[in-house]
Amino acid sequence: MKTNRRIFLGTTTLAAGAGILSSFSPDGNILPRYRPMGNGLKLTFRPYELQLRHVFTIASNSRTTTAVMLTELEWEGFTGYGEGSMPPYLGESHQTATKFLSALNLSQFKDPFRMEEILNYVDAVLPGNCAAKASVDIALHDLVGKLLNQSWYRIWGYSAENTPLTTFTIGIDKSAEVIAKTKEAAAFKILKIKIGGGNDEEMIKSVRSVTNVPLCVDVNQGWKDRQEALDKIHWLKEQGVVFVEQPMDKTNFEDNAWLTQHSPLPTIGDEAMQRVSDLEKLHGVYSGINCKLMKCTGMREAHKIIEMARSLKMKTLMGCMTETSCGTSAAAQLSPIVDWADLDGNLLISNDLFEGMKVVDGKVTLSDLPGIGIRPK
Ligand code: MG
Repeated sequence: MKTNRRIFLGTTTLAAGAGILSSFSPDGNILPRYRPMGNGLKLTFRPYELQLRHVFTIASNSRTTTAVMLTELEWEGFTGYGEGSMPPYLGESHQTATKFLSALNLSQFKDPFRMEEILNYVDAVLPGNCAAKASVDIALHDLVGKLLNQSWYRIWGYSAENTPLTTFTIGIDKSAEVIAKTKEAAAFKILKIKIGGGNDEEMIKSVRSVTNVPLCVDVNQGWKDRQEALDKIHWLKEQGVVFVEQPMDKTNFEDNAWLTQHSPLPTIGDEAMQRVSDLEKLHGVYSGINCKLMKCTGMREAHKIIEMARSLKMKTLMGCMTETSCGTSAAAQLSPIVDWADLDGNLLISNDLFEGMKVVDGKVTLSDLPGIGIRPK
């Protein structure tokens, strides 16, 4: 059956006009290999608004929607899907992403496999615009994976069974709401609790009144005094917390480093960590980093960040924004090699457009589909 599919792929590709360099499998069957012919990459995009299931509150703000940009990259009859998610605090919007994506000329690239060249061009067109850049990067990875008929975790050489549990996030709220949301999240085997909003103890006690699963906390820079922060971390450890994310202001390297040195729990830099160039500065300041495609321009750079952090013996967390299953499935391709995953972004929305990675028994579960492993609903 596999052989027939390969021959079929080769035939349809020839019919669509793409170049093919034939090679042969050991049993003599033709395997397709694509090469550039006349046509360049075609990028299309459209704005979309995610509806959040609950009002989402962290230490700095509350919201009920998230703006995203959906992209499609076409080449020789194949389509790759991408997404850029733009929570307001990162400074991108439908307007900025439209401007950025309109400025790109991807039709100049006739070979999608030249990913370094294409994505270096995208990164250099304008500074910033990290989520808009990620929307192109993800679509390109999806396209190339589909051309190879393989998922990215396989191309990178990772094992699907090594995916971690994913956390489910409980936002800052009053006790009754926190208890209700925690009960709703009974399928998850680790929870991420947002704190730093002035009711830390109440948040944790509310959660603990209904579950014994391990917790992690995300302070979102909410703590101001390092000694007070350290006292809180000691208490949190007693409550079964396993790591503390972005305890203090991202610009305060000294206090975050002091805290990491004294803390009985690993500290994770999130707001402080964006591009791969940040990693060197954060080594020694935090025990680990939270890598998100929307902060670092996509899968290519995230792959570099995670591999580099691991070689520096730093802890790794693969995170996401509120996203459709397009964004979370792309991030999930890297999850077999991280310490923790926070890939619940698609579960926090009510209008997902894709199906892809799933959470089964609390664990990130990759789909067998090629590319980033998604199909439109
Ligand atoms: Mg965070």
